[in-house]
Amino acid sequence: MKFVHIDAHTHVQFPAYNEDRKEVIERARAAGIALVNAGADRASSEAAVRVAHEFPEGVFATVGLHPTENEVFDEDVYRTLARDEKVVAIGECGLDYFRLVGDTAAARAKQQETFLAQVRLAHEVGKPLMIHCRNAMSDLIALLNEQRALLRESAGVMHFFTGSPEDAEALLRLGFYFTFGGVITFSHDYDGAVARIPLDRLLTETDAPYVTPVPNRGKRNEPLFALDIECRLADMKGVAADALAAQVVANAERVFGVKLG
Ligand SMILES: [Zn+2]
Repeated sequence: MKFVHIDAHTHVQFPAYNEDRKEVIERARAAGIALVNAGADRASSEAAVRVAHEFPEGVFATVGLHPTENEVFDEDVYRTLARDEKVVAIGECGLDYFRLVGDTAAARAKQQETFLAQVRLAHEVGKPLMIHCRNAMSDLIALLNEQRALLRESAGVMHFFTGSPEDAEALLRLGFYFTFGGVITFSHDYDGAVARIPLDRLLTETDAPYVTPVPNRGKRNEPLFALDIECRLADMKGVAADALAAQVVANAERVFGVKLG
C-alpha cells in the first residue's frame, strides 16, 4: 500500500473514537493517509502501540509523557514501549507553562526533568522526539541546546508549532521539523512561522480529536482532515497541493525513518 499523505500527530487511540476507531482509520488509509498516533501518558502510549499493531501498515505510534500529565515518568515502562518497531518517536513530551498553578518554579523544574529523561530515552533508542511546547519556548530551546549531543540529525518534530519565526530558526538549526494543524485554516497567527520554515522541514497533522480545520470546524476532528491542512499549507507556501503532499511524505519518511510510498 502506498501512502501519499501524512497525519503526523493524531490521537485516534483516544476514547473519542471508541465507537468507530477502525472506520476512522480505514477512511484515512483509503484516502492514502498514513497516521501517527501520539501517546500523552502511559495508558495512551500503550493504546497507540496496540492500535498500530492492528494494521499491517500506515499506522504508527509515539510514546511519551505530556508535560501537563500528572504521572511519574516510569523509565522502564517507556523504554520497553519505545523499542517497539511501530514506535517512530518519543513524545509527546516537552514543556507547557500555560496553566501552571501553585509553586511554578518547582513545577517548571519537574517538567524540565521529565522532558530531559525523554530526550535521553530518545537518544538511547535512536528515535526522534515529538515535542509539545506552549508558553515555554525559550526554556525549551535552551534545554535542547544544552543537550545537543543527544539529538539525532533529524532531531524530531515540533508538534503544532506556536513559536516565533526566530524560535523556528533556532529549532531548524537543531534539526527539527514542524507540524501545523487546524488552526492555520482559520487564523493568520502562524503565517510568519510557516513562511520561515523550508518545505523540506514541514509536516501536516490534525491533532485529532482537537482543533478541527475549516470546513468541518465544530465537528470531531479525524485524520482524513489532514487533506484540508495540506491544501492550506500548500496555499501558504505557494505550491501545488500534490507537490506539498509529496514533500511532506518524504519529510515524514526522513524524520521517522519509515517507508510510506
Ligand atoms: Zn497531541
